[in-house]
Amino acid sequence: MTLDTEATFLKGAGPAVAIRLRALGLERVRDLLFHLPLRYEDRRAHVAIAQLRAGDESLVRGRIVAVDVRYGGRRTLRVTIDDGSGPLLLRFFHFNEAQKNNLGEGRWLQAFGDARVAAGGIEMVHPQYRVADQVDELQPEASLTPIYPTTTGLAQPRLRQLVAQALEVATREPALVTELPGLGTPSTLAALRAIHLPGDDADARALLAGTHPAQQRLKREELLAHQLSLRVLRQRQRSRPSHRLRDAAASISELSSVLGFSPTGAQRRVLDEVAQDLGGAQPMLRLVQGDVGSGKTVIGAMAMLAAARAGLQAVLLAPTELLAEQHQRNLARWFEPLGLAPVLLSSRLKKSAREPILAGLADGSLPLVVGTHAVFQDDVRFKALAVVVVDEQHRFGVQQRLALRDKGGANAPHQLIMSATPIPRTLAQTVYADLDISVIDELPPGRTPIQTVVLSNEKRSDVLARIGDACRQQRQVYWVCTLIEESDELDAEAAEATATKLRAELPELRVGLVHGRMKGDLKDEQMRAFQDNVTQLLVATTVIEVGVDVPNASIMVIENAERLGLSQLHQLRGRVGRGSTASQCVLLYQGPLGEAARARLETMRATTDGFAIAQRDLELRGPGELLGRRQTGEIGMKLADPMRDAALIPPLQPLADRYLQDEPLLAKLLIGRWVGDPERYAHV
Ligand code: ADP
Ligand code: MG
Repeated sequence: MTLDTEATFLKGAGPAVAIRLRALGLERVRDLLFHLPLRYEDRRAHVAIAQLRAGDESLVRGRIVAVDVRYGGRRTLRVTIDDGSGPLLLRFFHFNEAQKNNLGEGRWLQAFGDARVAAGGIEMVHPQYRVADQVDELQPEASLTPIYPTTTGLAQPRLRQLVAQALEVATREPALVTELPGLGTPSTLAALRAIHLPGDDADARALLAGTHPAQQRLKREELLAHQLSLRVLRQRQRSRPSHRLRDAAASISELSSVLGFSPTGAQRRVLDEVAQDLGGAQPMLRLVQGDVGSGKTVIGAMAMLAAARAGLQAVLLAPTELLAEQHQRNLARWFEPLGLAPVLLSSRLKKSAREPILAGLADGSLPLVVGTHAVFQDDVRFKALAVVVVDEQHRFGVQQRLALRDKGGANAPHQLIMSATPIPRTLAQTVYADLDISVIDELPPGRTPIQTVVLSNEKRSDVLARIGDACRQQRQVYWVCTLIEESDELDAEAAEATATKLRAELPELRVGLVHGRMKGDLKDEQMRAFQDNVTQLLVATTVIEVGVDVPNASIMVIENAERLGLSQLHQLRGRVGRGSTASQCVLLYQGPLGEAARARLETMRATTDGFAIAQRDLELRGPGELLGRRQTGEIGMKLADPMRDAALIPPLQPLADRYLQDEPLLAKLLIGRWVGDPERYAHV
C-alpha cells in the first residue's frame, strides 16, 4: 500500500464508510494523512464536579444517583451523577428505551461535555458518555483526542483509526522526510504524527493553544505551497506576450473629458497604475479593490477605451444580466461622444440578434462588448481581445478567467478584476498572490453618509409608517428578505409572502418584487419598473446585492439582518446612498440576539467603511465566509488561516521566490501535496 492507494483499501473502510469518505473528498490514503484535526478534546483527567467551570468541556465520572423522564414541554431524560464532590445533572432530549434502561442507579458513568449553569445548578446537555459496573472500567484517555472534520455517519473513532493507518503507510514515503529549505524542523512526517497522535503534557498544552512547533511548521508549509501555486499560476498567465497598449495614458484624459465629473485622487492613482500595466509587454493581472460606490467602473472603462483606441477589443464581464445591462448603458453614455458603442452580449439574445454580434467580435468590427457568462461560450471568438475587465470578481472562479485568456489568440489579454469585497491587505496578498493589487480608498465627493439603525421586529409598524411617509416624498425603498434556508425556492416563497403582506399593510404604495427564481425577463421588468420609479417599494431577496444602481432609492430595510454576515450587509447597504438625499438603512432583527449577532449589527451601525467592516467580519467569522463559498473552495486551506496566521506570511514570500528559482521539484512537490490536483495547473 502507498499513499496513492485508494482509501477504500484501508481496514475498516467498507462501502458505507467509503461513500462518506468520498463526500469529505478523502479518496486516497494521502488525503487521510492530510485530513487534519479541527481541534482537540482534553479527556486526560477527571474533573471534580464541584470544580466544573461553565463553558469548559470536561470529563467527569460519578455514580448514577437518579434517573427520570420529564414530560413537561419537551420529553427529557434526566440523569444525576455524583462523584463525592457534588451532583451533576445530565439532560437528554433524544433517547430511546434501551439507552434509558442502561442507566441503572448505582452504576458508574463517565461523561464528556460542556458544563453550563442552569436554574437547578450545574448541568450538561447531551454529553458523550459511557456506563460501567466497575469504576475502573472508566478511565481517562492517555492523550488529547483529535476531532476531525467529518460528516454524518462517519464517527470520530473510525476516522482516527483510518488516519492511524495512513500514518503507518506514510512512514514508508521518503518525500515526507525530505528536507524543505527554510522551513526547519520537524520533518513533515514528524509534524503530521505529532498533530494526529498527540504525545505528552507539554505537547498537549501547545497543541491546544495552536503554538506547537509541528502546527507552526505545517502551517508554514501549507502557506508556502499556496504562495507557490499562485506564483506558478501567474507565471503561466504571463508567459505569453500581451497586446501592448503604449498610449493607454491618453485614454485617461479622453475618458475624463466625457465623464461629467473629475476622478477622485484614488481613482487617478489607480488609473495611472492600470495605464502603466497596459503599456507593458506582459499581460496585466490586476485586482482593483474599492468599496461599493467608490467608482471602480471608471477604471474598467479606461482600460476598454485604451484597447479600442489601439484598434483592438475589450470585454467587460458582469455576474448578472441586470448588471451587464447597467454597465452597457453607462458605458454607452460615456463612450457615445467618443464615437464608440459597446454592445451587450446577453444569454437571452435571439439567434438573429446574437449572430451579427458574434460576427462583429470575430472580425474585429465590434471593439467593445459587455456580457455575462454568455461570453465564455465556445462560439464567442474575438479577432484581437486585448483587455478583459471582470466586475464583482467573487462571482467568477479563476477557471473562468483562464477560459477567457484563450480567446485572445496568440497574445494574452490584460486582465483587470474589480472587487467590491474589500479584504485586508495581508489576506489579499495570500489569496490573490497571482494578482497585483490596487486600492480605491476614497469615495467620490458629495455623498451623504448612510445612517443605519438597528431595530427589533417589534418595531416593524414604526418602520412601515416611516416608509409610507418617505414614499409620499417621492423616495424609493428596498425591502430585503434574507435567506431562510439554503434554498432558492423557500427564499422566493418568503419574498412573495412578504410582498403580499406589505401590499396589504401599505395599500397606497406600488410594490415590486424580485427574487432568484424569477425568469430573467420578469426580473428585468421588475427592476426596470423600480429604476423608472413606477414601483416605489421593491421587495427583494439578496439577489439585489450586486452593483445595482438606482440613485433615487434612499431607504434600505433588511429583515432578519442578524442572519447575514457583515460583508453581505455592507454590500446590500451600498445599494442606497447613491444619490444626493440622505439615506437610511434599517436593520430589523428577530430577538433575542446572541452576543456575536449583537456585535455584528453594532459594527454595521457604527461604521460605513468597507475595509473596517471586512476586518471585523474576518474576526467574527473567518475568511471562508467572507469570501463566499466559491472561493473557500479555492483557498481550501487545511491548517493555516491566512488571517490568524498573517504574521507567518511575509517571510514566506521571498522563500517562495527562492523555491521557484532553485528548487522547482520541491515547489512542485509542495503544490501537489497541499493545493492538490496538479492537473488543475497542467492545463493552466
Ligand atoms: P462601484 O465602485 O461600486 O462599482 P460605480 O463605478 O458604480 O461604483 O460608481 C458609483 C457611482 O458614482 C456612479 O454613478 C458613478 O458614475 C459615480 N462616480 C464614480 N466616480 C465618481 C467621481 N469621481 N465623482 C463623482 N461621481 C463618481
Ligand atoms: Mg460596480
